[in-house]
Amino acid sequence: MRAGKSASLILALIVSAVGVAVSFAATAVPWMASLAPPARFLLVGGALGLVTTALLLPLGAAIDRTVSRLRSYLEATGSSEGKPPVFYGSRWMRPISTAFTGAVDQFRARERALNNDLREMEIRCRVSEVERRQTEAVLHALRDAVLVTNAFGDIVVANESAGLILGFDPTEAIHRPLEEFVKDSRFCQLIRDTSETANFAERRHIEHEIEVAAPEGDAAPGKTRFFDVTLACIENHKHEVAGVVTILHDLTRVREISQMKSDFVSKASHELRTPLASIRAYVEMLVDGEAGDEDSRQEFYRTMQDEAERLGRLIDNMLNISRIEAGIVQIERENVDFKLLIARAVDSLEPHAREKKISLITKLADVDLSVEGDSDMLYQVVLNLMSNAVKYTPDGGRVTIAADSDNLTRCVVFSVSDTGLGIPPDAMGHLFEKFYRVENYKRVAKGTGLGLNLCKHIVETLHHGQIGVESELGMGSKFWALIPMRYAGSQAA
Ligand code: ADP
Repeated sequence: MRAGKSASLILALIVSAVGVAVSFAATAVPWMASLAPPARFLLVGGALGLVTTALLLPLGAAIDRTVSRLRSYLEATGSSEGKPPVFYGSRWMRPISTAFTGAVDQFRARERALNNDLREMEIRCRVSEVERRQTEAVLHALRDAVLVTNAFGDIVVANESAGLILGFDPTEAIHRPLEEFVKDSRFCQLIRDTSETANFAERRHIEHEIEVAAPEGDAAPGKTRFFDVTLACIENHKHEVAGVVTILHDLTRVREISQMKSDFVSKASHELRTPLASIRAYVEMLVDGEAGDEDSRQEFYRTMQDEAERLGRLIDNMLNISRIEAGIVQIERENVDFKLLIARAVDSLEPHAREKKISLITKLADVDLSVEGDSDMLYQVVLNLMSNAVKYTPDGGRVTIAADSDNLTRCVVFSVSDTGLGIPPDAMGHLFEKFYRVENYKRVAKGTGLGLNLCKHIVETLHHGQIGVESELGMGSKFWALIPMRYAGSQAA
């Protein structure tokens, strides 16, 4: 039985009871009073019950119809996306149903608005997630270390460089105290001081040294690096300190370069001053008439000429090296036959070697020894290595020039071995540096200390080859160079 009908029946029973009560009261009416009480009760109560039931049954049916239509209406409004459906309720129930459908409509409209808000928030959420990832990617790609700490000194953001420089794992350190991960107490103090000053307008710049550990698996000890540390205090919406942003910019390389430049300038000026001083001294002696006879004068002129040539070589080498280092050398790439270069260099050094009774032996493989390269530059390499061998080999020694091709590496292997002084072990690592000369050999032969550095640049920077040395002190040295037969890569612009 439906709810409306049951309610109607209950009401009908209540009304019947009321009828019974009324029938007692009806004893006041004479013809009613004449009836026996049960008959009176039955008559009045029954009559009332029947009337009420007759009235209430349609009402119950109307309630049932209205409830069932409201249910359908609710289902329809719940599923409809656009305009809500029209509600057709029973006329009797119209005030209730109108209030109800009004409330439902409001509820649905609110639901739709909330759904729209939710969708918008989801979109914003996705956009900010993408932006967060982009910012993270930028932060992690930065070579500078970026570290953000909050007002309590906990790490909030740390990029990969920060982890590498300060020696911690950024993913582990997030939301943990800085001191727990960074052992450099002065660095931590800098961040605390910046937070305490609460100066939002200015950034602090401090130079700070950090012992940076070698990468994992690398047995080398840590290296002290120099950083420009930028510290900025960040504020929250209440103008209180929200945290500190710290950026570490590595200045080590810049410092090294500026040190190298000043070393170069002081070494270059020293090397230039030596031949210049010698020329000036001879000129003064000539002016003062100290060279009395023609032979002495000729001797002075020769020395001056030698020194002027040395000065010229020094300047040429310096210019060539700095042009290669600056990447502004235009090299003429052509087919260069090493056999021809070696023959030219042997011709040029033969008189000097003969003077010192040094035998020049060539061992050239019977194969094609040509490479793609700059003929003049490669000739300088061959000549320099051969002339060093002659210079640093005592009289009566032997210099062997060999060349072969290595099919595995597709290179021409060129080497110059001598039976000369050899190289002290502590000098081996410095031979190819600018202006480096073995102290004890300065008396043995004149030089600029730039020849091997230029050779290294020509072989490695310009021809993508390799140069090296093997030596035993007192036994002799072997300088070698590997030059790729085919040039691969871009030419120095
Ligand atoms: P330099 O003009 O002084 O020869 P290089 O750059 O060619 O300049 O050589 C650097 C230094 O390396 C030389 O001063 C010399 O001390 C050492 N050296 C080079 N070649 C030899 C060699 N064959 N035997 C011994 N020492 C050598």
